[in-house]
Amino acid sequence: MSLSNKVVIVTGASSGIGAAIAQVLAREGATLALVGRNVANLEATKKSLKGTQAEIVVADVTKDADAIVQQTLAKFGRIDVLVNNAGILGKGGLIDLDIEEFDAVLNTNLRGVILLTKAVLPHLLKTKGAVVNVSSCAGIRPFAGALSYGVSKAALDQFTKIVALEMAPQGVRVNSVNPGFVVTNIHRNIGIVDEEYNGMLQRAINSHPMGRVGDVTEVAEAVAFLASSKASFTTGALFPIDGGKHNLTPR
Ligand code: NDP
Repeated sequence: MSLSNKVVIVTGASSGIGAAIAQVLAREGATLALVGRNVANLEATKKSLKGTQAEIVVADVTKDADAIVQQTLAKFGRIDVLVNNAGILGKGGLIDLDIEEFDAVLNTNLRGVILLTKAVLPHLLKTKGAVVNVSSCAGIRPFAGALSYGVSKAALDQFTKIVALEMAPQGVRVNSVNPGFVVTNIHRNIGIVDEEYNGMLQRAINSHPMGRVGDVTEVAEAVAFLASSKASFTTGALFPIDGGKHNLTPR
């Protein structure tokens, strides 16, 4: 197993892609700190894991970086990998921008990642560990009408590349996965009605060159690879998991 004896923090492990990441990493032998705010959902993720140690860490990534690190160390004594997966969507483009929503998206998708990575880094330096950020196809190429989200993920990608360069001499690797559309709660959570969601899903299917959307496990397998020593010479990479969509020219 590629992650035996590795202690991994997974943020947003209570839902969607994060829950799948926890399951795949558990299969690979990792010991897990499962971070999120929804206790019932974190417990459901923990229950779905087989034969691995997992600690539930109820925390908000925008505020609780130190507490996440302290609870993980108190339970497991070390940290080998940080998976920054927690994230939220925003609605709309510049004309209809809700600045409070913009702040919330940037706080969660970017500032929270920076704070937690900074808090975890001294422990990754000890273990020669790795960071995997869950970014988006929207970090690599622009999508009109997705301003807050696209800005947050593009900045996250630059963060990945900069910290990878800073940490390469010390043996800490930093990479990201950049998924296309994956069916989870994230789109529903911005409060859209069924009809709107169904239209969005159909456009997503049509807009991926492979003619379908992605599955949570396809993202999780890539995270497991980047987290493990199988990717020992890979740092500062953005790994698209999007059926080819990142190479399309924006319209
Ligand atoms: P979900 O809405 O299913 O999951 C989001 C997760 O983030 C939840 O577990 C939620 O936990 C957690 N979260 C959100 N805000 C906070 C916070 N402040 N503190 C702690 N946890 C938080 O969405 P996905 O699984 O789809 O999204 C996971 C990642 O994948 C995100 O970064 C997203 O941008 C990215 N992504 C998703 C795509 C998709 O199409 N689904 C495409 C490209 C990227 P809780 O509610 O318990 O706090």
